[in-house]
Amino acid sequence: MTPLRSYACQPEHSLGRLHDEPRPERRSEFQRDRDRIVHSSAFRRLVYKTQVFINHEGDLFRTRLTHSLEVAQIGRTIARNLGLNEDLTETIALAHDLGHTPFGHAGQEVLNRCMREHGGFEHNLQSLRVVDELEHKYAAFKGLNLTFESREGILKHCSKTNARELGLVGQRFLNRTHPGAEAQLANLADEIAYNNHDIDDGLRAGLLDWDALCEIELFGRYEHAARAAYGDLPNRQLRHEVIRRIINALVVDLTTESEQRLQALNPQSVDDIRRAEIPVIAYSEKTAAESRELKKYLHEHLYNHHRVLRSTVKAQGVLRDIFAIYTENPQLLRPELAAAAKAYGLHRAVADYLAGMTDRYAIDEHERLFNPRRL
Ligand code: MG
Repeated sequence: MTPLRSYACQPEHSLGRLHDEPRPERRSEFQRDRDRIVHSSAFRRLVYKTQVFINHEGDLFRTRLTHSLEVAQIGRTIARNLGLNEDLTETIALAHDLGHTPFGHAGQEVLNRCMREHGGFEHNLQSLRVVDELEHKYAAFKGLNLTFESREGILKHCSKTNARELGLVGQRFLNRTHPGAEAQLANLADEIAYNNHDIDDGLRAGLLDWDALCEIELFGRYEHAARAAYGDLPNRQLRHEVIRRIINALVVDLTTESEQRLQALNPQSVDDIRRAEIPVIAYSEKTAAESRELKKYLHEHLYNHHRVLRSTVKAQGVLRDIFAIYTENPQLLRPELAAAAKAYGLHRAVADYLAGMTDRYAIDEHERLFNPRRL
């Protein structure tokens, strides 16, 4: 195990929380952040939110919760390899999708369209909004009052217009600097997790074609290796033997390349990493190209598969209808939502409400609002 390096985010040097609080006893500031996330309602709702497949399509498909756990596990391994802060990496991984709408990317797209005239909708920004504003559990402040470093990691992307309104945490999108290494790492751990579990889910759902996948460099190489090691295997085992090899290869490559970049840069502090010309956490050039190839394949053949698109279109209709009925008839909002509409504006409050829904809650709410036989 590599000891914590000087360029790792150190909890005692944190840039702090929006509201000052006494230091936690017997756990670090980042451990406290992680604990607050695990105890949040938004975190529990991830279990009923889609990754690619709508939640009720099958019990074995990834949800946002199992996805987030896989990101945390991959992120922690690499953090430990590189002497980065594991607690912070885990915190960012567990929180990164808190702002995700129901129905995966389909939900985010339609909400963004609904909100076009009202400031738009970005899921990363929404994750930050959840932890800064929308959780209402603590008496002393709104949100979870996380440290700057956790918030910096949660905000992966952000438009310049929004960045201007965010203060310190939006700065890097304006002056084009990087976030700390743990945030860079959580971002790539996210990609490793979803590329691999989407292959797994896509094959299991019968949407991806095994032979066609073998033409993809990364998949083909490790399929060959798995067959060479074991000969003929039942499908389920072969699939797992291939995928575990791909994950391992990506983790090893990311560790090795990042080690080299860190050695070359020789950063003494987190600030050296933030100001560096290039990100310190990265794949080698060859692996980056192979990962892009796989991602592109999944876009064309899984995320745009006609069966996935069919549920996408239905899901978008559900959200669009609910958004329209509430914004056109605000008198239908229940009291706490009416109060939120006063505080944030009607459209933003309805968008927050929709974004917070689980897949099944959204479907149910749609029924309640549009089926005259239901109350
Ligand atoms: Mg993710």
